[in-house]
Amino acid sequence: MKVLITGGAGFIGSHLAEAYLEKGDEVYIVDDLSTGSMENIESLQEDKRFRNRIFVRIDNILNHETMLELIGICDTVFHLAAAVGVKYILDHPMESIKTNIQGTEKILELCNKFKKKLLIASSSEVYGKHTHAPLIETDNIIYGPSSKFRWSYAASKLMDEFTALAYYRTNGLNVTVPRLFNTIGPRQTGTYGMVVPRFVDQALRGEPLTVYGDGTQTRTFTGVKDVVKAFMGLMENEGSFGQVFNIGGTEEIAILDLAQKIIAITGSQSGIKMIPYEEAYEADFEDMERRVPSIEKVAQLIGFKPNDNLDDIIREIVAVMKKGN
Ligand code: UDP
Repeated sequence: MKVLITGGAGFIGSHLAEAYLEKGDEVYIVDDLSTGSMENIESLQEDKRFRNRIFVRIDNILNHETMLELIGICDTVFHLAAAVGVKYILDHPMESIKTNIQGTEKILELCNKFKKKLLIASSSEVYGKHTHAPLIETDNIIYGPSSKFRWSYAASKLMDEFTALAYYRTNGLNVTVPRLFNTIGPRQTGTYGMVVPRFVDQALRGEPLTVYGDGTQTRTFTGVKDVVKAFMGLMENEGSFGQVFNIGGTEEIAILDLAQKIIAITGSQSGIKMIPYEEAYEADFEDMERRVPSIEKVAQLIGFKPNDNLDDIIREIVAVMKKGN
């Protein structure tokens, strides 16, 4: 099988590429390296087992000719190229909206043209500022005003979901939409704000861990390998098409407790520095206070069950980051 991964040089994309290469498939990657990096896929390109089965194109998904060619060649498409991370969105508001809306529209249009199976990675950001848990796929959505740019990401991803579902309804396109909750693992960078690689890096350097707000906001974390398994399972199951699925962990943890856990696991001498939101992001920033998924729907369809042992996942990240330092 020929698999196309947009954003394949990114954190999740590179793990997905690896899984399909291990399975014996051909993997085509398109990435503009805006947040992805060649380092993430170098070991795959150098691996003799994968020789002549990994093809990398450094290009933007808005390039029609490139996407026409690649989608024409491949059997199945994973669309992961998107503006990611709250910090990145706030720093690049225009580019983020364009990539997420126009980019996804282009992928949908071409997958529909060639009738190729498609997975579009969405985000738990789509739920907006709920405080209840767990969040289920049919929940209402609550956003802040358009003056608060954080919500532009959620709104753009929601529009992607609507467009995907419209293609399914109108054209019968086989498209599935997983909503990712916080995903962690080796190769994730803290450059765009992601909390776990930032805390691990700070702990390994002996610098204070920067907890934003009062640290009572909570998240659940999923290991990237579980996310990859879920993606592959969804694409192989026809029941996933035209549907949205939460993909995430179920163990809720406050960010302050996460900081303490990472200090304990690394044995670091670092302290914790509380930083007000307006200093960390921008004035009037609104965080999501809680973000816990119900994973019943995806569990029922494909038997998804995440490895909820956060300590083990953090230990793996620490080991990889230590090697890189
Ligand atoms: N966060 C933090 N310190 C950091 C980076 C992030 O306290 O150095 C917080 C952030 O404000 C949020 C949570 O950690 O409440 C998760 O942030 P991340 O950007 O990883 O993902 P989000 O869930 O916001 O998309």
